[in-house]
Order: sequence, then structure tokens, then C-alpha cells
Amino acid sequence: MNKTAPKKPELQLQGALDLSPSPESCPVTFRERYGHFIDGKRVAGKDADDFDTLNPATGQPIARVAAADATEVDKAVKAARKAYDKVWSKMSPADRGKYIYRIARRLQERSRELAVAETIDNGKPIRETRDVDVPLAAQHFFYYAGWADKLQYAAPGRDVRPLGVAAQVIPWNFPLLMAAWKIAPALAAGNTVVIKPAETTPITVTMLTEIFEEIDLPPGVVNVVNGAGATGAALVTHPDVDKVAFTGSTGVGRIIMRAIAGTKKKATMELGGKGANIVFADAALDQAVEGVINGIFFNQGHVCCAGSRLLVEESIAADFLDRLRRRVSTLRIGNPLDKNTDIGAINSAEQLATVERYIAIGQREGAELWQGAACARPDAGYFVMPTILTGVQQSDTVVREEIFGPVLSVLTFRTPDEAVKKANDTEYGLAAGVWTEKTSKLFDVAHRLNAGVVWANGYNLFDPASPFGGIRHSGFGREGGPAGLMPYLEVR
Ligand code: NAP
Ligand code: MG
Repeated sequence: MNKTAPKKPELQLQGALDLSPSPESCPVTFRERYGHFIDGKRVAGKDADDFDTLNPATGQPIARVAAADATEVDKAVKAARKAYDKVWSKMSPADRGKYIYRIARRLQERSRELAVAETIDNGKPIRETRDVDVPLAAQHFFYYAGWADKLQYAAPGRDVRPLGVAAQVIPWNFPLLMAAWKIAPALAAGNTVVIKPAETTPITVTMLTEIFEEIDLPPGVVNVVNGAGATGAALVTHPDVDKVAFTGSTGVGRIIMRAIAGTKKKATMELGGKGANIVFADAALDQAVEGVINGIFFNQGHVCCAGSRLLVEESIAADFLDRLRRRVSTLRIGNPLDKNTDIGAINSAEQLATVERYIAIGQREGAELWQGAACARPDAGYFVMPTILTGVQQSDTVVREEIFGPVLSVLTFRTPDEAVKKANDTEYGLAAGVWTEKTSKLFDVAHRLNAGVVWANGYNLFDPASPFGGIRHSGFGREGGPAGLMPYLEVR
């Protein structure tokens, strides 16, 4: 009997599938100008430093945005202090929880509109905002609402108290979700908040303030100041702030840590990363291909924990790369509002220039470039084709530095020890992925990786009950789960 299995026909996935356009049609009305939200009121703010927020898929402006100066930041901090002293810290924890539940429910009710607004302001595909950003944001409020009246169980046997006023500064890659990660645990722990969204993505946080109005959140409990780096600096250095929570680049994280050193302020820093996705020869390869794509091309690589380095076992490297390229060749790049789009726009012209600069550096240092998708790169807007760089070394810039774009650097290894050594050879320590069918190898490798998060046979998986955060230059402190409450509590 012939035991040789019949050869499977080659999969032909190259080229665009013939799909009709399927644009998301939910209407969203943008304002002409976005101000601040201070003490429960919409504040127009001065117009001296106004700036545009753009739709990165077209490069066209959506609206003008006010930039808060130190005086306006001071007003917001004062409002947060007043709300903390007079209202929020006096309220029963169960009642605080009810407000947080209401925010969660209203986020769900307005989810479609929020997803469309986020896609237009950020550039990421509607599939992601609809299926990931907005549902996860609501889940965070639901999860922490449950903690509001159970804080004594966060540190059993100890006395826990809120810190006071939290100053929060967030980046543009997950505007609404990062706001939820910051605001939900702060409120559940009994603190009040002043938050600054990123300059390029202020819209969904402003929509969140509409939700605060709709659910009658007491004035001053959450305040929003729009603006650029100077507004963020004025906020985190304000003398009446008790807690600083920052998500952003390692460079700005360092500036903030220097600025608040020696003060009473507590801090958490969620910074950059250079995640490694380690694929062993015994992994389920097609699943690993999906995981690698999810890890770096998802959200245009605008993910702090992106799996921007692929470490693949040498014996399967050629086969794996072949499968990866074929699958990437089926991804659709283009209009982020189209429900079939996999790869949307890079968030800004500056970030587009950064990503392109890194691709050029990679090639100059000897990398071999491969780019592909199921359709051509749109002419207008800020787009980068999914990019795979092979022939790179540990010392190459594209292997060492965070690119924050859809650029995957590929390295190989022969033994688990070598994989661990290469994965750990970075200043960062945010996230990693391990792909193998062998559980003992999985646990062994996972425990030896210097990363705050290690995903097993998966990548970029999030749950509000599960802590997230980095070590080394990726920062400190955790968001999510009971651990995410601790940075907002004083434990006595
Ligand atoms: P960024 O330049 O560090 O900006 C982050 C935020 O800080 C923005 O709101 C920014 O305002 C503000 N800011 C800038 N200078 C400041 C200063 N001196 N003091 C206070 N605030 C200041 O980062 P980004 O380029 O927007 O975001 C990408 C970075 O965020 C990546 O490095 C990524 O890895 C990291 N990130 C980390 C996580 C995590 O959880 N670890 C999550 C998401 C993103 P402007 O926007 O106006 O500049
Ligand atoms: Mg920035």
C-alpha cells in the first residue's frame, strides 16, 4: 500500500478578492472645534494655539482643537480636587460603582458611532474599532465598576485609600481604549481625573465627556484638557496632582519621570516595546502565521506590544516565511471605513515619515525588503504596505528600535536558549509570544523571557481582568485586573 499522502494543490491566494465596497454608513456629526471639559462644563478654551485634527486616510482636517495652557490645566486640576474633596471621596463606593456601570452601558449603546468616529480620527480599520477598541473600552468600565465596592479585597487585611487627583496622558494608537484603561480604575479606586488625549486623536475622548454628561457624572470627577506636549507637561507637573499615569513613548516617559522626581506624586509608565514572536518548528504554523500578522500588521503596527520581531526556528524559516508572505498578500489595505479593510492608515504624516525612514535605514543596513497586500497602496492619505525585512541582524536599527508601524523584522534561531537570548536582547520588556505545541517548552521559554506579558500560541489578546504592562524601558505599573487598581490606591 502506498502510504505517501497525496500532494495538496498549491493554495492560490495571491491577488485581490473581488469584493464590493462595504463602507460603514453610521453618520457621525463632528463639531467645528473641540475645546476642553472642565468641572462638568464645555470650555471653548483660548484659540491662540488651536490645531487641526485630521483624517489620516485622506489627510483632510476634521475639526479644530483647542490647546490648554497652564492656566486652563490649573482650572481642571482645581475642579478635580474640589470634586474629590466634596463629592467623589464622600460618596459610597457602591454609588461610585453605579456611575461607572452607567458609563459602560452608554459606551455600548453608542458603540457604533464611537467606532466610526475613532476610525475617522485615528485611521485604523472599522473592523478593529468596532470589534476591539470600543467593546474593550466598555468592558474595562464594566470590570472596574465591579471593584468600586470591593476595594478591601484588592489588598486583603490592609486598609486601602484613594490617592486624590490623577493626571493622565495618553497616546494616539488606542485613543478611547487608553482613556478607558486610565479612567475606569482611577474612578473605581475613588480618585478624580484630569486626562489629556493625544494631539492627533482628541475626538472619542470628547465623545466620552458627552457620555459623562448623559449619565450625570458629578462635575469635576473627570476633566479633559486637549493639547500637545506642553499641555501634558503642565498637567503632570502640576503641584496638586497626586498621581501621574502616562502611556506613550519611552523618551517622553523619561522626561516626565525626571520632571516629577522628588515630588509626592506616584507614577505608572506604560512605554514602548519591541516584542518578539517566537515560532518553534513544532507550532501549528498556519495559526502562528495569523498570530504574527495579528501581532504586527493589526492596527498598522501602532501597538506598543507589537510583535515587531519574528524569531522563527531555522528549520522551518523558509516554509514559514512563504506561508506568511502568501497570507499577507491577501490583506486589504485602504479605506478604513470599509468593513473589508484589514490595514488602515498610519495616524499622521509625522508617523508615516518615521516608518518610511526606518524602512530606508533597514535597507541601508542590508535588510531585504518585501511588501505586499491584496491591493495597491491608496494614493491619498498616509499608508504603508505591510513590510517584512529579512536578512537582518541583532545589531540592526530595525531590530533594536521601536518603529511603531507595520514593519516586521525576521530573525532565526536553532535552540530554545538562542531564541530566549535573542528575544531578551533589547532594552524593552513589554510583550512576547511563544508558538509551540509542546507545553513544557512553552512554559520554560515563557518564564525566561523578560517581558511583562507573554502570550502562548496567541498574540495581542486583551481582557480587562488580566494585567498588562512592561518591565525595563517599557515602564512599570500594571493596567487591567486587580493589579491595575493598585497604582490608584494607597495601601496602609
Ligand atoms: P508620545 O509622543 O510619548 O506621546 C504620548 C502622549 O504624551 C501624548 O498625549 C503627547 O502629546 C504627550 N506628551 C508629549 N510630550 C510630553 C511631555 N513633555 N510631558 C507630558 N506629556 C507629553 O507617544 P506617541 O508617539 O504619541 O505614542 C506612541 C508611543 O506610545 C509608542 O512608543 C508606544 O509604544 C507607546 N505606547 C505604549 C503603550 C503601553 O501600554 N505600554 C500603549 C500605547 C502606546 P502629543 O500627542 O500632543 O505629542
Ligand atoms: Mg505624539
